[in-house]
Amino acid sequence: MDGDAGKNPASAVQLGEGARAFLTGGAKHLLIGGKWVAAHSGETFAAVNPATEEVIGHAASGAKADIDDAVMAARKAFENPNWAGISPHQRAGYLLKLSRLIAENAEELAQLETLNNGTPLAMTRGQMLASAQTFEYYAGWATKIYGETNPSDAAFFNYTLREPLGVCGLIVPWNGPISSASWKLAPALAAGNTCILKPAEQTPLSTIRLGELILEAGFPPGVVNIVTGFGETAGAAISEHPDIDKVAFTGSTAVGKMITRAAAVNLKRVSLELGGKSPNVIFADADIDKAVAASVGGFCFLSGQICVAGTRIFIQEKIYDEVAARIAAYTAHFTVGDPFNPATTMGPVVSAEQFERVTSYFDVAKADGAHVAVGAGTLGGKGYFVKPTLYTGVTNGMRIAQEEVFGPVAAAIPFKDENDAVLQGNDTVYGLAAAVWTKDVGRAHRVARALKAGTVWVNTYLKVDPISGFGGYKQSGYGRELGPHSMDAYTQTKTVYVDVTG
Ligand code: ADP
Repeated sequence: MDGDAGKNPASAVQLGEGARAFLTGGAKHLLIGGKWVAAHSGETFAAVNPATEEVIGHAASGAKADIDDAVMAARKAFENPNWAGISPHQRAGYLLKLSRLIAENAEELAQLETLNNGTPLAMTRGQMLASAQTFEYYAGWATKIYGETNPSDAAFFNYTLREPLGVCGLIVPWNGPISSASWKLAPALAAGNTCILKPAEQTPLSTIRLGELILEAGFPPGVVNIVTGFGETAGAAISEHPDIDKVAFTGSTAVGKMITRAAAVNLKRVSLELGGKSPNVIFADADIDKAVAASVGGFCFLSGQICVAGTRIFIQEKIYDEVAARIAAYTAHFTVGDPFNPATTMGPVVSAEQFERVTSYFDVAKADGAHVAVGAGTLGGKGYFVKPTLYTGVTNGMRIAQEEVFGPVAAAIPFKDENDAVLQGNDTVYGLAAAVWTKDVGRAHRVARALKAGTVWVNTYLKVDPISGFGGYKQSGYGRELGPHSMDAYTQTKTVYVDVTG
């Protein structure tokens, strides 16, 4: 472990005792079959603080041989009566225990996540509590996985059983490691599956701490395995493994396509939550104050590194200049800087690679002829800080309006009327989320129906609750996470016919 890892030099904020203790010691290991083990290769990789560019820890670089071990452990656990044979109430008990442990350790988990991905601490705290809530919500579902009795001819009694799929590979990104993991782990475990969880290579740390809490919650060995490592090695080994029954992935559309191809090897089920270029449509009759504030949040929250970021802001022609100017001005409410400083509302982007990618779009937008309303710059110095950026004079065909930047960069695009808003809003390969701002109730519902997106917000942005499904239309993926829908995604139905003629 490098240097003074317990202290964040950017802010001189002292980490709590828990996070400090976690960061001392050697490289973190893989969780396989209930034990912490080094990777077969012995290799490790560094975790970096994006606010300071300093190394804060190391994690084992898992690859194919480690995934093989994890799959063997998960398969054994799936068949072991201490998991396969327990009552749904007992499964719920494990989930509730883990939910409590996440809540009790929320501050430490939040600090580790902030240190590793640069999300402001107030937000990672919120994410940990939301993750605890997700486990609590799915603890409730463990006892509510009902089958059906079906009308049949008199000679038969026919019913269905809903059973777990088996071993699930869960591949998650770096923008919300614990919340992403909880969206997958909680329903998978509630249904009685076993899992191999792979966090992103940029952010291994908080997930390893989650693994410690999973052990503390008492889950039998092998029910949850955690393999840290790179996408091309550990991730690819999951998607092509012949003994994994399902892969659930959140990440880029390009990788989602690769995973789908690899998963065909044994026709494993695939659920994908991919990229977006979400339309945020503001009509002239909207509550403009509210729309402006939420629209800025929509593309600046987590430095724009969220798949639902509202990066195409459609503004009705007659209010275009005024509202675009107000959105540009409102970005000043996002204070960019040290994510441990309570005054900060926007941290750095996650990595040098992401910094390069986001800032390269400044040239793309310029070449397209877009006009900089605000931003298009960086803070300079150490850390991967990008300023909130809004482009005006954008048409929907420009690259800046079509490609996912995954940074705090939005395009303001004018539209004429409802029909034009819907046509332009839907003119994208993505379909993850959308929003409509209007006081006209009929229009709100019409546009909500017409926009092709898995989530539509009316007069709000970013609301997500575990009670309701989340996922994409078009190339934003398929399958739904959260809500009851996720229980379908982690179960399969067996039909049983019983001859009752005696
Ligand atoms: P992002 O663009 O947000 O970094 P990626 O799609 O590259 O998203 O990564 C999201 C997750 O997918 C990470 O855990 C990463 O390691 C994993 N991943 C990347 N490439 C592959 C791959 N070829 N196969 C499986 N998983 C991958």
